[in-house]
Amino acid sequence: MTTNIKYMSGVKSLKDIDVYGKRVLIRVDFNVPLDSHGNISDDRRIKAALPTINYCIDHNACSITLVSHLGRPKGEYEEKYSLKHIQKRLERLLDKRVEFIDDFESAKGEIATCSKERVFLLENIRFHEGEKKNDKEFSKKLASICDVYVNDAFGTSHREDSSTFGITEFVDTKVAGFLMMKEIEAFSKALEEPVRPIALVVGGAKISSKITLLESVLQKVDKLIIGGAMSNTFLKALGYDMKDSLYEEDYVATALHVMTGAREMGVKIYLPVDLVVTDSVETPVDVKVVPAQDVLDGFKAVDIGPATVKLFSEAVEMSNTIIWNGPMGIYEQDKFSKGTFKLATAIADCYAYTIVGGGDTADAVERCGEASNFSFISTGGGASLELLEGKILPGFKNLDRREESI
Ligand code: ADP
Ligand code: MG
Repeated sequence: MTTNIKYMSGVKSLKDIDVYGKRVLIRVDFNVPLDSHGNISDDRRIKAALPTINYCIDHNACSITLVSHLGRPKGEYEEKYSLKHIQKRLERLLDKRVEFIDDFESAKGEIATCSKERVFLLENIRFHEGEKKNDKEFSKKLASICDVYVNDAFGTSHREDSSTFGITEFVDTKVAGFLMMKEIEAFSKALEEPVRPIALVVGGAKISSKITLLESVLQKVDKLIIGGAMSNTFLKALGYDMKDSLYEEDYVATALHVMTGAREMGVKIYLPVDLVVTDSVETPVDVKVVPAQDVLDGFKAVDIGPATVKLFSEAVEMSNTIIWNGPMGIYEQDKFSKGTFKLATAIADCYAYTIVGGGDTADAVERCGEASNFSFISTGGGASLELLEGKILPGFKNLDRREESI
């Protein structure tokens, strides 16, 4: 049976083609976190794209044009989302001049001038309305500035945008970059021949976008461990009054559905038994640990409690494959970071294959010093969950295929 992962592993990579003298367009994921002054607070995503960019430089591509989005602009220019914020760091990491291009159509001639493997960085592609709409005309325009298309934006590969999907219709040679291949390989190890039991740990605040995936994920996992704001929606579904906690009323029914499905399929679900609650997230005066059933009036749940840390740690300890997406609390604040950090250590200490996905989860794992103790840290959150769901990600769908896999 060809699974989604097997299908995606069959695409051609950069190593299968010749880029000599070609105009190469690389869709990268430079969607890095910036602080309020526009400084990059974590450049892992830029570093993750370097092997692909360097390979094109070393193999004498005529020009290398980097395309990315940053943040969520609404189809028009916004200074805070300009990729100019990335240019200097990229130059430093590549040790090479990077030329910034505001308008790629008028720079077409420049990009075609073959000398010294020039590297161009386009302005945020989401400043163009056509990008999110996967507009045909826009895809065609973008395709016209390259001979070879390389997709290396794993974190965005679950999106059907022009630069991740639509463009492939108009380019003859289209392949995956090294980051895409590395990600697929890591998930293949966890999902194709998994050593069971498999535990999926989910948390975080993107409830609506993640909860719907959980229904299909049930077929793949043996244990589902739920924390963070995500678990508030499940506790609400059990009939607990979550008071001022963050949860999504519209998805309470979905949570119930997931719990019923899990019971029918023999998947074990673990929910918090105690919670850290506070009167205020910004200026906490009163912070308490309470049973999950007893969130106090005027309080909100902001972390899992110590009994839950123990319960979750024991549940993961008995797993051989662990996939983690979403922090257990508001880990950005010291007072509410214990649950996430302690669970990170518990997972890192397991004799299991361990994968972390999701920008904030990866950041939390880095902050508590456990990053190097995980088997793999994915640059994709939503993308990795969709892999688990069994989907073929749009970013891989139309790429050229290796002969043996056609
Ligand atoms: P990821 O980026 O790893 O996919 P999400 O973006 O879904 O994760 O969620 C991360 C965010 O969830 C963090 O900013 C964290 O503060 C927040 N969070 C976690 N638990 C809670 C909670 N109980 N209440 C409010 N926010 C929470
Ligand atoms: Mg996030």
